[in-house]
Amino acid sequence: MTARFDAIVVGAGAAGMMCAATAGQRGRRVLLIDHAAKLGEKIRISGGGRCNFTNIHCTPEHFVSRNPHFCRSALARYTPKDFIALVERHGIRYHEKKLGQLFCDDSATQIIAMLEAECDAGHVAWHMPCTVKAVERHGDHFALATTAGAFASASLVIASGGLSVPKIGATPFGYRVADQFGLDMVPPHPGLVPLTFDAAELARFGDLSGISVDATVSAGSGRFRENLLFTHRGLSGPAILQISSYWTPGSALQVDLLPDHPAAELFRAQRRSLALPASVLGEVLPKRLAQQWCEAAGATRPMDQMSDQALEALAAGLHDWRVKPTGTAGYQKAEVTLGGVDTAGLSSKTMESRNVPGLYFIGEVVDVTGHLGGFNFQWAWASGFAAGSSL
Ligand SMILES: Cc1cc2nc3c(=O)[nH]c(=O)nc-3n(C[C@H](O)[C@H](O)[C@H](O)COP(=O)(O)OP(=O)(O)OC[C@H]3O[C@@H](n4cnc5c(N)ncnc54)[C@H](O)[C@@H]3O)c2cc1C
Repeated sequence: MTARFDAIVVGAGAAGMMCAATAGQRGRRVLLIDHAAKLGEKIRISGGGRCNFTNIHCTPEHFVSRNPHFCRSALARYTPKDFIALVERHGIRYHEKKLGQLFCDDSATQIIAMLEAECDAGHVAWHMPCTVKAVERHGDHFALATTAGAFASASLVIASGGLSVPKIGATPFGYRVADQFGLDMVPPHPGLVPLTFDAAELARFGDLSGISVDATVSAGSGRFRENLLFTHRGLSGPAILQISSYWTPGSALQVDLLPDHPAAELFRAQRRSLALPASVLGEVLPKRLAQQWCEAAGATRPMDQMSDQALEALAAGLHDWRVKPTGTAGYQKAEVTLGGVDTAGLSSKTMESRNVPGLYFIGEVVDVTGHLGGFNFQWAWASGFAAGSSL
């Protein structure tokens, strides 16, 4: 016996639940399938357990994609205000932490419960844990063989996410379906991820682990000013997570460790001082970093004995530190997956495949990746709403 639905959504994460609820509340008969035993695990662990569910400053410029314009339409039709209204309707208390980032006051599980309730309001049917064994297209419908039986539907929505954090259920399922139906892929790689150093660089900075500085970091077309954190494996912190989405292997990052304090002016003001350059820098940088930086640069004599040239070089290095990471901390630590299903094969209004009617891709499986700060969930809500309003 094959159970029939108007739409089957594979992946009951952020995008999948939003899509299923939207379509269900429009009167569509929807089945939501997930292979995980627990619902919404990624939402539960997000934002340190409080879910940074949107960002009030969200614009298309906060996203990375081969086609930077693709996300415009969906983001315009489902905005942070729309999601905030939903959150308020469910009585979930929230606050702005910084830079427009909205978090639950209490727990991310409230967002999961809210989405589940919205699905219930749309009479969405569930199967989880349920593994999809095969997907086929028969005439005008899709046929799915699963561990919970055979299902058929006119529309199939792939909302199975990216590859980040495999231990809570990430799989390449969506990429395989895209490949099966002839959609192109932008090669996936880890995003919003710490960067690693080689042994020589680690030896130079390894014992700075735990130190954090306000810095400007640039790579490719990206430039961010936030905290940079030294770790025992390399660099992390919001500035590094952000720039990791723009960094290409083999290239160097450009770091300004003193964005508010021109080092040359600091040195000029204390040119005749008997203090060491590390003490001068220790007024504006963490002391351990100032110490280690000066030692590595050989700037170990008192200010009045340093040559102009050496001080100029020291100042320039602090504003233009070029550091070449050897790699990333990988999918285990990445918050998102860059790349994915190429948007060239999808409608930006509905997320439907241009060549396979009824096949939709939403959320992180698509080559649209947000900056850190609530943008990835906003994309999940907006793309889920776009598909759910269309199918
Ligand atoms: C630690 C961490 C913290 C984060 N914090 C934030 C934050 O605070 N704010 C923010 O905006 N973003 C955050 N993100 C990113 C955000 O969680 C994702 O971008 C978002 O969840 C993507 O939504 P999605 O629905 O596309 O995929 P997911 O939420 O990953 O959902 C995909 C679903 O598909 C299921 N699935 C996978 N493979 C299969 C299969 N073969 N068969 C059936 N089901 C399958 C999975 O079990 C999962 O339930 C964070 C990510 C991580 C890892």
